Amino acid sequence: MTEPSALTIEAFQRFIRDRYLATDSARGTPGTFMWFIEEVGELATALHKAAGEGGATTGGENLAEEFADVLAWLCTLANINGIDLARAVSEKYLAREGPEGTK
Ligand SMILES: [Mg+2]
Repeated sequence: MTEPSALTIEAFQRFIRDRYLATDSARGTPGTFMWFIEEVGELATALHKAAGEGGATTGGENLAEEFADVLAWLCTLANINGIDLARAVSEKYLAREGPEGTK
């Protein structure tokens, strides 16, 4: 296991690519986007629950895990669309003074 402090966006995206690219490519962007949004929904539910709100949930209740799931599916979408996330983040947020205003 990679120590969290040593983990990079590039390494995680590569891990997701190496492990899942064939399956993810076969599913394609529309289906993968549905999975991504499902995970965003699970994150919303977990955040809601962590705030002491909301009722019963159906799985996906660990807040940290849901953040990880969203990042994993974002990497998947990037992989099947030819996007290097580390480069994209660097160019948009770290180069120059970063974006002005909202993200
Ligand atoms: Mg989840």
